[in-house]
Amino acid sequence: MLSVKDAETIIFNAVQPFNQEHDLEIVDLLTASHRILATPVISALYFPHWDNSAMDGFAVRYEDVQNSSSENPTILEIVEEIPAGYQPQITIKPGQAARIFTGAIMPKGADTVIMQEKTNLQENQVFILAKPQPQEFVRHQGDFYQAGKELLPAGIPLNPAEIAILAAAQLPKISVFRRPRVAIFSSGDELVTPEQTLKPGQIVDSNQYALAALVKELGGEVLMLGIVKDNPTALTETINYAINHADIVLSSGGVSVGDYDYIDNILASLEAEIHFRAVQMRPGKPLTFATFPNSLYFGLPGNPVSALVTFWRFVQPTIKKLSGLNTGWEAKFIKVKSHSELKSNGKMETYIWGNLKLNDGIYQFQQTSGNLNSGNLINLAQTNALAVVPVGKTLITPGEETLILQIR
Ligand code: AMP
Ligand code: MG
Repeated sequence: MLSVKDAETIIFNAVQPFNQEHDLEIVDLLTASHRILATPVISALYFPHWDNSAMDGFAVRYEDVQNSSSENPTILEIVEEIPAGYQPQITIKPGQAARIFTGAIMPKGADTVIMQEKTNLQENQVFILAKPQPQEFVRHQGDFYQAGKELLPAGIPLNPAEIAILAAAQLPKISVFRRPRVAIFSSGDELVTPEQTLKPGQIVDSNQYALAALVKELGGEVLMLGIVKDNPTALTETINYAINHADIVLSSGGVSVGDYDYIDNILASLEAEIHFRAVQMRPGKPLTFATFPNSLYFGLPGNPVSALVTFWRFVQPTIKKLSGLNTGWEAKFIKVKSHSELKSNGKMETYIWGNLKLNDGIYQFQQTSGNLNSGNLINLAQTNALAVVPVGKTLITPGEETLILQIR
């Protein structure tokens, strides 16, 4: 059976990330949060824009004050006061200084700022009581960023720091990648919506809601296609619609080997390239991955935990990669000690849900309480991590390290 690693390689190789030519959208800075930058940003401004003072104090010529001390202060004449936002008018000449405030433009002639705590003010004279470093407390034009260079690269998410930079660079309209469109439907004759009365044997379609929530968390646009009966005609119609309207299609159910599991056959009839139908993992073995010319198809297992685990393991990084993120789209694992005993049959890569907890500054994984069953959605609530037991291993003992996939 196909290993998780190989399945991942096949999927990620099939993803064509969004590109600047076809997938670009312009948004206002105020709505750009969490979007992904589509083109590199270059600014015509320098940061700082001009030489300015990093302190409240006095702008001086280093040459004048280089021998100052409290016993032997240098006395300078104050020729101008420069608050922030004011353009200095006077060039500082030998023996002169300007009163200056944090962020204000350095006057011509001055090259150094003396913080006011190292001075004594007497009418229009300032006594410099200590010797500064040359150019001390001056932030020079372009120290942080030189106009014309790349300010932000394409493919990064716009978080608060990047938003602030774009605002400071006076760029209120931002080119971002469009949101990935993800169609979701559930298949099964037994399924009802949360609003319908439950008859014996029926099951509420929770997967569609879970998957929609996950896609939205990742910045995707959701196309909810509802519940589709285990009926080849209805399924063909839905899948055909989905592949023509979405970048990614997620179905759940109908991909195991039961008599009513038609999806794989329908994919074949619609000329999908079916890459695999099962993966060596638990939960999540009956996973189908297929590609159409313009969309990727994931036939997720019907069991609610399996649908979520396969989403976190494979679909989440796929959506991130498709979205145009240049790095960091892969599933992220960290190695931590397990607090619980973790068991597997040794034949499947096993994902165990539970919590990553901080104990005295060290992360530990604790398995959820209750039955670990792919149909038991209840104890998945309030978990934040999946511990991985690799193929070939049947037991991870408390205190032993294991890989953890963070899901929140
Ligand atoms: P299947 O893969 O269709 O054989 O479904 C496996 C199990 O998952 C069955 O017990 C289904 O009733 C259940 N199931 C299938 N689809 C969903 C769904 N959308 N929401 C919740 N449970 C489901
Ligand atoms: Mg079914």
